[in-house]
Amino acid sequence: MSDLTQTLWDLIVVGGGNAGLCAAIEAAETGARVLILESAPKAYRGGNSRHTRNFRCMHQGPLSVLTGSYEEEEYFDDLLRVTKGKTDEALARMTIRASEACLPWMEAHGVAFQKSLSGTLSLSRTNAFFLGGGKALVNAYYNTAQDLGVTVAYDAEVTHIAIEDNAFTGLDVTLDGTTTRLKARALVLASGGFQADLDWLADAWGPAARNFLIRGTPYNRGVVLRDMLDQGAQSVGDPTQCHAVAIDGRAPQYDGGIVTRLDCVPFSVVVNKNGERFYDEGEDVWPKRYAIWGRLVAAQPEQVAYCIIDAKSIHDFMPSVYPPETADTIDGLAQKLGISGAKLRDTIETFNAACREGEFMPTELDGLATEGLSPPKTNWARPITQAPFYGYSLRPGVTFTYLGLRVDETARVSGPAGPLDNVWSAGEMMAGSILGEGYLAGFGMTIGTVFGRIAGQEAAAHVA
Ligand SMILES: Cc1cc2nc3c(=O)[nH]c(=O)nc-3n(C[C@H](O)[C@H](O)[C@H](O)COP(=O)(O)OP(=O)(O)OC[C@H]3O[C@@H](n4cnc5c(N)ncnc54)[C@H](O)[C@@H]3O)c2cc1C
Repeated sequence: MSDLTQTLWDLIVVGGGNAGLCAAIEAAETGARVLILESAPKAYRGGNSRHTRNFRCMHQGPLSVLTGSYEEEEYFDDLLRVTKGKTDEALARMTIRASEACLPWMEAHGVAFQKSLSGTLSLSRTNAFFLGGGKALVNAYYNTAQDLGVTVAYDAEVTHIAIEDNAFTGLDVTLDGTTTRLKARALVLASGGFQADLDWLADAWGPAARNFLIRGTPYNRGVVLRDMLDQGAQSVGDPTQCHAVAIDGRAPQYDGGIVTRLDCVPFSVVVNKNGERFYDEGEDVWPKRYAIWGRLVAAQPEQVAYCIIDAKSIHDFMPSVYPPETADTIDGLAQKLGISGAKLRDTIETFNAACREGEFMPTELDGLATEGLSPPKTNWARPITQAPFYGYSLRPGVTFTYLGLRVDETARVSGPAGPLDNVWSAGEMMAGSILGEGYLAGFGMTIGTVFGRIAGQEAAAHVA
């Protein structure tokens, strides 16, 4: 502790996930004295970044493991489609262009890539997959940072940023139960969104949010974000906007990660607690629909839903990490899931009667649609008739929130009186500057890497 207080750091980075590590490495490479303050214990370092698998990268020809090309216009069109135009075009295009140089930079700093995995989320042209996943990436960056002389303090929660005359002058951090003021010449804020603070989520969403599961780290509680907003930092984004998917309802409250994903929805009938269907399960292929189901389930009673499938479909999707509930009758399954047997039977019989003959093709839009049913099921509609019957519960799983700090192209944060002299932000904490709504797979790590690097370079130039 005394070592930390006795040093005048060139740069303090708050948060040791992907964005913070990229910033720390960039700055340390210029010779700056860098301290990372990370609220998690060492074993849980790396925040949400340790759960990731890939990042989305522009490239004008084959690049490392990426095939073909993925150019700016196509990437930007993909972003426009998911955000429905709610993005800052200049920032978005800058991020996309900068992503191309990130891949070789990442390789040069210890990250290894692998060819994309086969299966429903095959993205071999657009997304580069980390060998060993996000945990390996985070460990590689910590090793690189350590080699560059970066100091890391774990179990170190930053609670307050002192801003005077439009500049950062110091911060309060709780270490070993004691709150201490540390000083530095520059600050990079990379402490994630606020999704792990269920009270804050409930302020935005209402009491329903208490039934949400958080897919990633319990440490991203938005403590620093709240402190900065309270001091008039300019914000961007809407507190109800976030990336949320439907995950296995039995997943833990925090940190369940990607294995709690369920891919069975397109081959199921999905009902709510009242045994009623509420949305077209076969609207599109699952990679294009999984991100809307978090919100759909969030709007149901008690924020829970149930996927019902039969023996015909159990092998048509990636196996689940938790085994499904199973029974020989629909009534028996309803009992196990805790929903009304009569109502579920009625829903399934009505659905079955609306199914039509046709060829079932699980890997493409097969047009096997219901007739006269509301809501319809427009693909993969096969009657649920063949025992044993299977059921999974679904709950909304929040990945990260979008309300954050507004930044410019240099990652600089603005206070009430304009850009702050020596404060930059990167990652989830400013992602709302680009993601106004929706999500593009792999773009979270792109934003964190691009802005983390910029923030580190800018902070280093400031203290040089
Ligand atoms: C299950 C899951 C899978 C995902 N998969 C992908 C993927 O494949 N590709 C992709 O692009 N994105 C993915 N994402 C999103 C991605 O994780 C984020 O966009 C990215 O990791 C954000 O990086 P970050 O550095 O901003 O935040 P984080 O990696 O979360 O780091 C923030 C750090 O700040 C620390 N912190 C928080 N508050 C404080 C405080 N007050 N004081 C000190 N430290 C603090 C936290 O402990 C944490 O370590 C996934 C997310 C989840 C949850």
